[in-house]
Amino acid sequence: TSATAVLELRDVEIYYGRIRALHGISLHVAPGELVTLLGANGAGKSTTMRGISGLNRLSSGDILFDGESIAGLAPHERVKRGIIQVPEGRRIFPGMTVLENLDMGCYGRRFSSKSAYRESIDHVFELFPRLGERRKQFGGTMSGGEQQMLAIGRALMARPRLLLLDEPSMGLAPMVIQQIFRIITTINSEGTTILLVEQNAQQALSRSTRGYILETGSITKEGAGADLLVDDAVREAYLGVA
Ligand code: ATP
Repeated sequence: TSATAVLELRDVEIYYGRIRALHGISLHVAPGELVTLLGANGAGKSTTMRGISGLNRLSSGDILFDGESIAGLAPHERVKRGIIQVPEGRRIFPGMTVLENLDMGCYGRRFSSKSAYRESIDHVFELFPRLGERRKQFGGTMSGGEQQMLAIGRALMARPRLLLLDEPSMGLAPMVIQQIFRIITTINSEGTTILLVEQNAQQALSRSTRGYILETGSITKEGAGADLLVDDAVREAYLGVA
């Protein structure tokens, strides 16, 4: 499958100073997949995401997008190719309205017509009716769940070919987490390829095509989401089942 992968990491190592955060990890995401990267605090999940989006430099290994190395590209060049990250902690613009936040997501994207722009906005409002109701509200006054929806909506405005979601469920109430995961599944079923980083193993694995387990900078396990969900070691470490 790696020949046709949208994204492929080959033996990626990333250091912070002298600390090796990633010990040579390899993974791939095929077109249309929803792949989860599961790991405890400090395992290296965000470091991996930042390596893919270009915010962290590789010290060795390679990252391929559509079979072509992107390891030397600046973050904005990766965005142009369709690699769009929803960062941990959402990072919406608090002093801008919902609509202005969404417009920031397509900054630099060229629409073929005004109706193409409208289509993108309407699609986001269809997925997140709440955002449509609150288009004039300032981002900073929204709830955590609404801000997460806004962050995902903003990413969709860039028309991602690969959507990187870094812990979208973090800090949200169980009901809201359900809602966010349902929308992630919808976005994936509409054809968007997704790499998801999560600590919420149950939700993430049950909705994923495949998953990888990341432990202290190394991939220790890979499998179908449904298989990992019933794996004894995974259940013990990430689902609190002995
Ligand atoms: P979390 O869920 O807490 O974000 P994570 O799996 O995303 O965890 P990373 O944030 O990628 O983990 O961190 C991986 C390792 O690299 C950890 O040991 C962390 O302490 C270290 N690390 C992360 N950022 C830095 C930094 N800027 N400087 C030094 N060490 C760092």
